[in-house]
Amino acid sequence: MSSNLVIVYHRQPYEEVEVDGKIEYRENKSPNGIVPTLKSFFGRVDKGAWIAWKHAKDPANPEFERVIEIDDAYGTYTVSRLPLTPEQVKSFYHVSSKEAFWPILHGFKERYNYDPVDWPTFREVNWAFAEAAAAEAAEGAVVWVHDYNLWLVPGYLRTLRPDVKISFFHHTPFPNADIFNVLPWRKEILESLLACDVIGFHIPRYVNNFVSSARSLLEVDTLKREKVHPDMVPETSALSEQSVVTEIGYEGRTVRLQASPVGVDVDYIEEVVANEATAKRVKEIKQEIGDGQLILSVGRTDYTKGGIEQLQSFERILETRPDLRGKVRLMHVSVAANSEMTSYEEIQRDLEHQAGMINGRYGSFDWQPVALISRPVKFTDLVAYYRAADVAWITPLADGMNLVCKEYCAARTDGDGVLVLSEFAGAAVELASAVPTNPFSHKSMDGAIQFALEMPEEERRGRMKKNREKVRTQDIRFWAEDQMRAFGEEILPARHAE
Ligand code: UDP
Repeated sequence: MSSNLVIVYHRQPYEEVEVDGKIEYRENKSPNGIVPTLKSFFGRVDKGAWIAWKHAKDPANPEFERVIEIDDAYGTYTVSRLPLTPEQVKSFYHVSSKEAFWPILHGFKERYNYDPVDWPTFREVNWAFAEAAAAEAAEGAVVWVHDYNLWLVPGYLRTLRPDVKISFFHHTPFPNADIFNVLPWRKEILESLLACDVIGFHIPRYVNNFVSSARSLLEVDTLKREKVHPDMVPETSALSEQSVVTEIGYEGRTVRLQASPVGVDVDYIEEVVANEATAKRVKEIKQEIGDGQLILSVGRTDYTKGGIEQLQSFERILETRPDLRGKVRLMHVSVAANSEMTSYEEIQRDLEHQAGMINGRYGSFDWQPVALISRPVKFTDLVAYYRAADVAWITPLADGMNLVCKEYCAARTDGDGVLVLSEFAGAAVELASAVPTNPFSHKSMDGAIQFALEMPEEERRGRMKKNREKVRTQDIRFWAEDQMRAFGEEILPARHAE
């Protein structure tokens, strides 16, 4: 009970690597910088703690494998890992989270699968996280819980430790009541979240959706509503809101609601860009492309990312614009995050089928229209592709934020390149100078990409400049500071530049 800041996040802050039979902890270098940014808060408090889960070594005897003590550049903190059995991992992580909650959060009711959900296990694992956080937190500490697989942690923690301050951040969209209320456990989830002091979302639309869901089931009062900053209300986004609820009351408590879009680590991406190896790679890619144009699309293999719809659009364009044949290439990176799930295997097969059909119909000996890449691309290589691509074509059907589009802008220190962005990505609320597209409309999809390919240089640069300014100011540290501001100055992290 000695940490002033406890971060509860399902991922570990270090990768565990076995070298010659010994475990070594290596920095978890997530490109978007979420993990290092969270760790940077530990430098602002006397002592921090991080709670995550890991695969239990001996599932028959899953002792709580506390704790590694860390004292590094980020500060002094402990990392507690909850060992989960394979059954718990499957039930809590793969089934409940991915087959039931994920489709609902993204508005795909028809993909929601209730049957395999093992709610008692979900509760049990969330309880274990809450207990571990309660054991670490000092009197009045801030506990920052992340994402929907830990939905029940705030409620349990409030019972165990009424004294702590709890903040929760949703890294996904939040749907309105018509969709959220499909979940049979809706009330229990909402009541748990309302035990927080602060609940964070990416954009105002998700905040208002949360309020609509809460009001449909519980006696929740709207205490404060504010106008959204005009910069965050672009006509080009289907997810804009004019005003946003910032405070609600529930059972005598006030809960603050906050919209803070997650950003990327612009400094780090610019460092990668400035690397000689990156420049060399960019040159090679450009040589390979020759006089033609490169369109880049990057995402996980997931129905929310709209990969099939995009390939179909590309096929229509090649059909109707024979002049583009031989001149444009699409590099479509679609990486499976979780190979255990059959629905993702199906999507992968469909993508391969669609890409194969396009290449068969339109390709020639020296021109292959689509390069479908299914293995993960190293972030440093990805940055080289960002630099080489004339257009980034990012068209999810639903996406909480989408960091790829922000990384693309961050990488374009040359000021060139066009971003075509789905109106249904959270990022569209910030990136008003992207070319907007509605992935549900053939006309909009086909029109936007052709418009991007033909855009004059001056317009390209003008739009990229504005997008880059947004990505630079609203970076990953801006997000974290914004979320923690509610708890006062003492928790604010130091910025790199200072
Ligand atoms: N990414 C990567 N290699 C790949 C594909 C993706 O490193 O081959 C990274 C990408 O740079 C980004 C993240 O994976 O940081 C994807 O984040 P995003 O928010 O766009 O989508 P999510 O997968 O979280 O829904």
